Amino acid sequence: MSVKVALIGARSRSFGPAVIADLLLSAMQKLGRKRKIAAVNVPVRGAISNLSDDTGVEVPAWRDGREMQATRMGTMLVDGHAHLFSMHEIPGVLRVMDGAGLSALAICCMPTNRAFRCDVNLNAAALLAKAMRPRSVYVFAGLDYTGRKGEEPDGKDLLRQARALVAIGADGFKMLEGKPNVGRELGVRLDAPCYDDFYGWCEAEGIPIVLHVADPEENWLPATDPFLAERGWSYADGAYPSKEELYRQAFRVFGRFPRLKVQLAHFFFLSADRRQAHEVLERFPSVTFDVTPGDEMYRNFAVDPDGWRGFFLSHRRRVVLGTDNTIGEYCRDNVAEAGRFAEKNVARGIEIIGLLRAFWETRGKGPGNQSGLALPPEVLEHLYAKNFLSRAGEAPRPLDIPGIVEHCLRMRASIGDDPNRRHVAREIDEIAQRLRAIGE
Ligand SMILES: [Zn+2]
Repeated sequence: MSVKVALIGARSRSFGPAVIADLLLSAMQKLGRKRKIAAVNVPVRGAISNLSDDTGVEVPAWRDGREMQATRMGTMLVDGHAHLFSMHEIPGVLRVMDGAGLSALAICCMPTNRAFRCDVNLNAAALLAKAMRPRSVYVFAGLDYTGRKGEEPDGKDLLRQARALVAIGADGFKMLEGKPNVGRELGVRLDAPCYDDFYGWCEAEGIPIVLHVADPEENWLPATDPFLAERGWSYADGAYPSKEELYRQAFRVFGRFPRLKVQLAHFFFLSADRRQAHEVLERFPSVTFDVTPGDEMYRNFAVDPDGWRGFFLSHRRRVVLGTDNTIGEYCRDNVAEAGRFAEKNVARGIEIIGLLRAFWETRGKGPGNQSGLALPPEVLEHLYAKNFLSRAGEAPRPLDIPGIVEHCLRMRASIGDDPNRRHVAREIDEIAQRLRAIGE
């Protein structure tokens, strides 16, 4: 049997094919053991996509499994790092939330739109998702670089953007600018003076930033894996800054803005170096690491489970759960269809959360078939919810729906008639229309 697997979001490198096959297999095995719960009430008129949201949500067997101690104890579960690439994925994201029992979810927006392959950020769709679930969806907005390739951004403009986005309902910012290919494409570095006012304002206002810096070490080696080269994530040709240089840039930012709340995506790509991970957390008290996979991360943790267990016990207040879940389909050859949500990806998103929980809560098999760490309940509480909520806020910031509509109209104007952006332009029109309906 051959299974075509959709690519997952912007993770450093998605679960490898073996892991995905594993996921699908275990999902299929569990199919017979699922039961239904009541339909989910989504407060929006009409179905966004052709798939309606009122068909009930499958609850996987692991949710009431006795071995899952966090379930037994009623611990909250927050996904602090997920993605949304199109408004059409929103019903699927909500189904993952309900199916996996998430209390809240943080949508991390990209500065460019991979689904539609253009340079417009993904804030509008995320704000619509939040308008549909204002009490449980957090939005980490992306800064806008539309039409600005290679030019140094204007610091005053970045600050203005940040203020405006928080005023209409963004809870924080996602910066993918520290990922080597993205930084190079945008012509920016994390410690460039143009970001000073932005960082300074976020620090003063307590606005958190989910920051992606570098990538796994292997991405700098000559590419043996076509997956990396295909996605532009192979940095062996010397045209990209080194991992160490990217860390130096990040450390300069943390040093200059010591109270800036930074959630470092994918464990800051330090899962192969526990000592350095420890040193970073000791040196910069305002940063946290999210444990959003990267397949290398869980493999590295499993190499020395006792050592890592000790790490998570002593740094229990510095780690945040994340999934990198996204449930859209990338259609490289058909952007008109990009972002349509696929039912199988909903099942996979729920299943990934089950695997992550198996890893953190039990000695059983987690991502990549790696044996888990079985952390105690008070550590799980911090990892799963408290660390995220204490920094991003116990509840999402309030939304200004008319303000978001205005924001969409401004985005729409900046997109213009560029044929490369016509799909995203159409979607922003539709988002504005939905938001007006919600606002009425
Ligand atoms: Zn991500």
